[in-house]
This record gives sequence, structure tokens and C-alpha cells, in this order.
Amino acid sequence: MESALYIVPTPIGNLDDITLRAIDVLKNATLIAAEDTRHSKILLDKLGISSKKMISCHDHNEEEKAQIIISEVKNGGIVALISDAGSPLINDPGYKVVTHCAKADVKVVPLPGPCALITALEASALPTDKFMFRGFFPVKEKELEETVCSLKDADYTCVFYEAPRRIIATMEVVGRILPEHDVTLCREMTKTFESFYRLKAKDAAAFLKEDPDRTKGEFVVAIGSLKNDITDIPENVKDAVSELIRTAPVKQVTAVIAKLTGLKKNDLYNYALSLKNE
Ligand code: SAM
Repeated sequence: MESALYIVPTPIGNLDDITLRAIDVLKNATLIAAEDTRHSKILLDKLGISSKKMISCHDHNEEEKAQIIISEVKNGGIVALISDAGSPLINDPGYKVVTHCAKADVKVVPLPGPCALITALEASALPTDKFMFRGFFPVKEKELEETVCSLKDADYTCVFYEAPRRIIATMEVVGRILPEHDVTLCREMTKTFESFYRLKAKDAAAFLKEDPDRTKGEFVVAIGSLKNDITDIPENVKDAVSELIRTAPVKQVTAVIAKLTGLKKNDLYNYALSLKNE
């Protein structure tokens, strides 16, 4: 294996989601830079990988740890950068390490793999052709309101992370400011209680309050755009989609109708998907 800094995603719940390549890199690593070494040791033990040289690498010491990583690679080593779960750098440490390595001409090899943002987007049933990721919702009320207000005229899907203790309060604000927007609350993905709640924003907080179990675990929130609203599809076309998907695959139906009507394939696909989900 070539000497380099490898960015290695780890599972966001289901251990089987680790990739073969990730295991290979971790096994061959001469140094593992982990967000929390104790947390990552549990994963490494489960993978049968032991007695690795490890360093902790978090937001407050990244610059200093970058130098250790650079000299390890320059001395022929293989460094694996991992975070507590999911893809490093995506709302996790690693940005400064990668920046310093790039500046020092150290080879950086990113491995594809688990990431809550992408996993949520895929199941959201919201348009995926154009999206923005905003990390965690702001905690301060005023900033939260400003952030949510900025989405009123957005023509893209916007994805946020949120903590379970804040999900109801946040969805109250989202529901008040963007009542008619479609939202998908993606909970505990890849785990036993994986759930996707696809709702109008105005109904989300009340829905969560109905059952305390609905607020347990980790959340990703995807907010749709009114610009992509499926009401833009004429009624007769909607009827045709609804009839045809009874007997033909959604992809095939939407491709043919898009060709015949000139409507966007993605809009038709999302409409067909929403019918299937109903
Ligand atoms: N780097 C990670 C990634 O690739 O997704 C994200 C790290 S961020 C500190 C942790 C947040 O991601 C959680 O608070 C939650 O919002 C989201 N998250 C992580 N795992 C999740 C899961 N299994 N289901 C839903 N959300 C999850």
C-alpha cells in the first residue's frame, strides 16, 4: 500500500457498512489518527485490529497533529484518519490535517463510505439534483430563525444535522417559518430503529411530540424546496403517472412521461415516489 494519508469513513450505526478497502487501510496503517482513540479502539477491536499506534486528532489539536501525520507519511508510513462515526471532515475533524498535508505535498487518499448526510438525502424522497449541507442547526434562537428564513426561496434541498434533545424545538421554528415545505426527518439510520418521517414542516413538531420514541436517537433533517413542488405537474400528467406506476417501474414511467411532456424527469420521479410512499 502506498504511503499516504488515507481518509477512512467508518459505520454510522451498522458495523457491516465498513468497506473492504477501509478494513485494508486500517490493517496496514502504521498510525491511526482518531477523533477519540478510546471510542475508535472499540471498532478496531471488533474488526480484529489491535496494537496500532494511535493519536487523537480533534478540533483543538489538529494543527499540531498534522505535523506528526506529515512526518509519518514522509518517512514512508501509512496514516488512516478516522472520526467517531461516518466520514471524517463532514462535521468532524480533519479539514486542517488535509489542508496541511496538501500544502506539504503529502498524498491524500479519500475512501468513499458511510456518511449520514448522503444516506439521509438518498432516502429523503426530496430532490437530490441540487442540495446544500449546513451542518448542525444553529442553537441560538435568532440565528436559527435567520438560517431557516434564508431557505424560504431556496431552489435546493437543504440538509442539517440535529441533536435529539433539540429536534422538537428546532422543528417548531422550521414549521412556523416554512409551514408548507416538505421535510424528511431521518432517524437512527442503519440502526434497529431506523425511521424516515416525511411530513409538511408545519406538522413535524406535533408528530414528534405524539410519541416520545420518535425523538430518540440521531437525526438528519432534509428540507425540500417549494420551487420543486410537485403541484407544478399538470393534473392530467399526475393522473397518468399514478395509473402507470401500478404496472410499470417508476424510473421507466417517469422517463417516458418526461420525454413526452418536456417536464423535468426528477420532478416526475419525486412525484411518483411520493405516491408510492403514500
Ligand atoms: N461525520 C459524520 C458523517 O459522516 O455523517 C457526522 C458527524 S456529526 C458530529 C454527528 C451527527 O450526524 C449526529 O448528531 C446526527 O445528526 C448525524 N448522524 C450520524 N449518524 C447518524 C445516524 N445513524 N442516523 C441519523 N443521523 C446520524
